[in-house]
Amino acid sequence: MAPMGDLDNADLVAYTDGELHASRQKMVEAHLQHCQLCRRRIVEFAEVDSLIQAGARLRRDPEAPIMLKQQRVQATEDRNRNAWRAKYWALLVALLAP
Ligand SMILES: [Zn+2]
Repeated sequence: MAPMGDLDNADLVAYTDGELHASRQKMVEAHLQHCQLCRRRIVEFAEVDSLIQAGARLRRDPEAPIMLKQQRVQATEDRNRNAWRAKYWALLVALLAP
């Protein structure tokens, strides 16, 4: 769980994907102005995104983007950076498997 008053992971993921409504996006941007922790989380999400996109390109499964998005939201619940990074490497390896 995010600390009190902090942005939740679903909002941050939607923000990095440009999927938030204008009013919500403004709220997220205002928060990011003064919250270093969330700015760092966004950078981490971007790293994960590049891994996922590399995997998605290699696997032309129409269901893959939906599944990957769910996995991403779940994995970002984990506050332990190394643990969720390991999960994504495992996911990428799974995608690369024949
Ligand atoms: Zn924050």
